[in-house]
Amino acid sequence: LFSPAKPALTIRLCEPRGFCAGVDRAIQIVVLALKKYGAPVYVRHEIVHNRFVVQGLQERGAVFIEELHEIPPEHRERPVVFSAHGVPKSVPADAQARNLFYLDATCPLVSKVHKQAMRHQRLGRHVVLVGHAGHPEVIGTMGQLPDGAVTLIETEADVHGFMPVDPDQLGFVTQTTLSVSDTAGIIARLQERFPAIQAPSAESICYATTNRQEAVKETAAGTDFFLIVGAPNSSNSKRLVEVAERAGAKRALLVQRAAEIPWDEIETIGTLGLSAGASAPQIIVDEIVDAFNARFNVSIDLAVTAIENENFPVLSVLRDMPLVPA
Ligand code: SF4
Repeated sequence: LFSPAKPALTIRLCEPRGFCAGVDRAIQIVVLALKKYGAPVYVRHEIVHNRFVVQGLQERGAVFIEELHEIPPEHRERPVVFSAHGVPKSVPADAQARNLFYLDATCPLVSKVHKQAMRHQRLGRHVVLVGHAGHPEVIGTMGQLPDGAVTLIETEADVHGFMPVDPDQLGFVTQTTLSVSDTAGIIARLQERFPAIQAPSAESICYATTNRQEAVKETAAGTDFFLIVGAPNSSNSKRLVEVAERAGAKRALLVQRAAEIPWDEIETIGTLGLSAGASAPQIIVDEIVDAFNARFNVSIDLAVTAIENENFPVLSVLRDMPLVPA
């Protein structure tokens, strides 16, 4: 409510922001699996990198594990879901060897990158993967091919240190959630050093990453503070913080919940930028707007830079099977 005692604040709210079609589909797969097969449903790795989402699914009966051997023998018949980030080929092979019933929630756009990497290899090319070491998507993409078939490049400096066996037989793909501008720089260096390197036949950085970065880039100039809702292990959310800083926000910060907002730094601001990574639910954006409403007379300035209509259907086994009571 308006109060003359409260300072005025404009919130530039980025659109699009938050959940992408791949995250939405992965969460639906767990929810539908719980409805169809009852609890527990095992989920290998955080289904998406968001604690709030993970806790909500745990309350419904999802059990999160890091590796398949953690499923107790008496629960071997329970479904296990693979996360949106994708898994190395060894994981479904391990599930089959253990006679597990698995549901693969890998985002179709990550699967597309896997196919592009396999295509490069089929055509005799050594694969260069541009991405961040240790991220589950990178582990999954590298694990589509035998050991040694993929070289991970994280920075432009890595390009200079890369010594391929045959510089004329190279193909690259990238992680889906990278910084568009940093990746363009790394690819330019690769193409300078290895002019014969082949690009994937479709862009690897996904529409959701590109659109969220573009929205933040368009909005950041002139903001006193920029909040990105997302988890510290969410690659695309961290990239949004960098984009906001580079595009002119005086300061940018990643927060998981309203409780993390540093109010002492925000007291005197006039314009706030606000967006959310692809794994952050709208309910937390609402929580943050409510927290600002309690302290400021807020006016929302919706900054729309793209309209998204993507919708990825869930696995057919979850569409076709009869429901059992949850
Ligand atoms: Fe898929 Fe992109 Fe969302 Fe990742 S960020 S789940 S690749 S749509």
